Amino acid sequence: MTDPRRDLPSVTALLASERLRPLVDRTPRAVVVEAIRSAIDDARREPTIVPRDDAAWAALVEAAVTARVQPSLRALFNATGVILHTNLGRAPLADAALTAIRDTAAGYCNLEYDVGRGERGSRYGHCVRLLRELTGAGDAIVVNNCAAALVLALNSLARSRDVLVSRGELIEIGGSFRVPEIMAKSGARLVEVGSTNRTHIGDYAQAITDRAAAIVKVHRSNFAVEGFVAEATLGDLATLAKERQLPLLHDFGSGLMMSLERYGLAGEPTARDTVAAGASLVFMSGDKLLGGPQAGIIVGDPALVTRLRTNPLARAMRVDKLTLAALEATLALYRDPETVMRTVPTLAMLTATHSAIHARAIGIAARMRSRDIAVTVVDTEASVGGGAYPTARIPSAALALTGDAVALESRLRGGRVPVIGRIADGTVLLDLRSVPVGHDEVFADTLIRTLS
Ligand SMILES: *Cc1c(COP(=O)(O)O)cnc(C)c1O
Repeated sequence: MTDPRRDLPSVTALLASERLRPLVDRTPRAVVVEAIRSAIDDARREPTIVPRDDAAWAALVEAAVTARVQPSLRALFNATGVILHTNLGRAPLADAALTAIRDTAAGYCNLEYDVGRGERGSRYGHCVRLLRELTGAGDAIVVNNCAAALVLALNSLARSRDVLVSRGELIEIGGSFRVPEIMAKSGARLVEVGSTNRTHIGDYAQAITDRAAAIVKVHRSNFAVEGFVAEATLGDLATLAKERQLPLLHDFGSGLMMSLERYGLAGEPTARDTVAAGASLVFMSGDKLLGGPQAGIIVGDPALVTRLRTNPLARAMRVDKLTLAALEATLALYRDPETVMRTVPTLAMLTATHSAIHARAIGIAARMRSRDIAVTVVDTEASVGGGAYPTARIPSAALALTGDAVALESRLRGGRVPVIGRIADGTVLLDLRSVPVGHDEVFADTLIRTLS
């Protein structure tokens, strides 16, 4: 046997080859040259992969080009059944939000300009009216995320002073967000109150000294506690905070704007509930149940919001125009409670009926079978994810793929548009509840292209 590495083609020969012409024509030359070099290098190192003919060389170079031009951040299908999946980008945006981003960001916009007066304006004014309307709060400010909201508030109101928190709320939200660590970074002194499973209003009352600057209540958004448990309610804390003239800061997280109780999702308060219960400031994420872009929304007492807005740290946490455009458009959808459950994708995915999800799965499975892909439809349980309704299991339906689960799962991840599913009992399941309504056709095409 002769060593196949002896007749490796040259870069020039491959560049000029007829088969690579279309690729060379549509790709920057430097990228193709780089890809050819690396393909030849790979072949030199590993004789078993040396292509046997022109077509095989073209395929190898094409794969090397694709790997280089593919964006690092790209779209994929979330078929995990976890609707607010932090690793997969949390909330998909509403059409209105996408349009708003395009309309304001393709050219210039009045980000910090008062068009009426013809003078400098404030970026912090943009979503305020809507947030007041939707939550009943007196004022609002938007920063980069909920973690930033907490840091900004504590740094503005409690630097070098005491902040009281229940031991049952010293929690980790995920992605290295731990309440005690974030609080320490803000410069506030953490005073732990009560015990892990039980904290009473009297525990807070006892811990208040003249060094106290605030009481913080953290919503236990990603886990539930059961058994011998007790906590002081937001209402109780509001009364105490008022008596002692301390601000009550509530890290609420989810950003739920409308109750989902009539859809079977109970137990999460809305932003309006927390404001009405007497929290002085309420912090929430824009990209959880609210269904908007990543943002940290702070609503509450106007005098406190002003102190946050004028803290130099606010400048380091300020949101950009894309976020504000998307957030304002998303919030505006809530003005119409009749349609918001359809127009905000997160809400639509959460509240779709099981029979609607099942029917979509049946339709996609039929298309796949017509292309000889073995698939059945099974009932599953989806979850909310993203730190809300931690124990809720939502009846759902999934495509169950027949075959080697590990190989199938990896093939789906490796496709041009990756599909992320899960393996349960040795079967790949693709849950339809986390695939936005209206994406079915492209989803089916992607599955057929990847699996045929
Ligand atoms: C999710 C969550 C956070 C963190 O929000 P980000 O917007 O991801 O920074 C903070 N607190 C609570 C209670 C949460 O649920």
